[in-house]
Amino acid sequence: ALKGNKDWKPAWRKPDPKASYDVIIIGGGGHGLATAYYLAKEHGITNVAVLEKGWLGSGNVGRNTTAVRSNYLLPANTRFYEHSMKLWENLSHELNYNVMFSQRGCLNLAHTPAQFDDYARRGNAMRHLGVDAELMTPAQIKRLISALDISDSARFPVVGGLMQRRAGTARHDAVAWGYARGADRRGVDIIENCEVTGFLRDGDRVTGVATSRGDIRAKKVAVAVAGSTGRVMQLAGVETMPIESHVLQAFVTESLKPFIDTVVTFGMGHFYMSQSDKGGLIYGGDIDGYNSYAQRGNLPIVDEVMSEMLALFPGLARVRMLRSWGGVCDMSMDGSPIITTGPLPGMYLNCGWCYGGFKATPASGWCFAWTIAKDQPHDLNAPFTLDRFHRGLLIDDKGQGANPR
Ligand code: FAD
Repeated sequence: ALKGNKDWKPAWRKPDPKASYDVIIIGGGGHGLATAYYLAKEHGITNVAVLEKGWLGSGNVGRNTTAVRSNYLLPANTRFYEHSMKLWENLSHELNYNVMFSQRGCLNLAHTPAQFDDYARRGNAMRHLGVDAELMTPAQIKRLISALDISDSARFPVVGGLMQRRAGTARHDAVAWGYARGADRRGVDIIENCEVTGFLRDGDRVTGVATSRGDIRAKKVAVAVAGSTGRVMQLAGVETMPIESHVLQAFVTESLKPFIDTVVTFGMGHFYMSQSDKGGLIYGGDIDGYNSYAQRGNLPIVDEVMSEMLALFPGLARVRMLRSWGGVCDMSMDGSPIITTGPLPGMYLNCGWCYGGFKATPASGWCFAWTIAKDQPHDLNAPFTLDRFHRGLLIDDKGQGANPR
């Protein structure tokens, strides 16, 4: 097909940076690209550059395990992630790019009656806000996932589960490429291999960036660098952020016949799994237990994740693992994100996605674009400012931000 289509155009241009822009977005991950797209589409702001130090998709947007859900407990998170879910449901049409959004459901397994009660509470909270949620019995779960060890002799017997049927998975690279193409076609300059190395200042005000391809001025500078937030903010002289960078690993097995058509999570630890369209099992667990900017992890987590997998699916003991990899996650102190103006004049900040920011990509870009265009947060991201850490108004979803992804 490639041979016969010599006139195919690149999905986005490769422009040289201009001397100045209305808005510069640092970071060509999912969030930076979505922000550029919605700035152009929703607010008519097209004199925009996205500066990416590597290539598009080299960060977490191309490393995640693609679980998408909106099954949170606290209203601020539920509303935000449900807005994202609604954008996901139309994203392939919106971008005219198949992001392979597959609403195959996400099932959280409960292993104690108390945990099941907790899931019922969360499911009720979700339904109060109009989000779908369904409790499942062990017999229903067994019918859905026959390979699961649901016997009383399992290490952690399954007593029930909370299912969100509209949850699922999407093709992560396609999300980056679709937003990039959509933004580029509206006039946004996407500039790869352009690392931001400093900030241009006029007093406190940020007036542009120094980059590996020269200085670029801007009326507004937006930071969306996920796991590199601490480093980039240090370049602006902001030394303390409520963020720690940790590696999160993921794994894929050899291809198997389709046998699990939902995302499933383990309630007694950190483990979750789905099966890709190619047949590989995609799975992961907890973050590595030390701060790091390395995009690879360590063996103790590998051991832990494999043990958890076998506790649920003993029949997978002989399946071969094909690959593992790691990405650097921007862990916020309460597990919830930050989408805000500031902290310096002329600057806007998007971070704190922990290990769950892929599902947020559409809403994050949509809300961040609003915040940049109007110089104030939208109602949906008003709770997600930096100020909450000063005032002690944490949005701690007790692990739901973290597990399942
Ligand atoms: P990134 O893609 O990391 O984008 C940030 C970009 O900034 C990078 O491309 C980087 O190169 C660039 N950058 C950094 N510094 C500079 C600089 N100085 N100058 C220019 N550019 C710079 N979330 C889910 O919702 N579901 C999941 O199942 C899930 N699984 C995950 C599994 C793993 C293994 C990992 C690592 C993460 C997972 N996540 C998941 C989290 C999700 O991937 C991230 O929260 C999200 O991708 C972060 O936003 P982003 O796409 O903008 O980040």
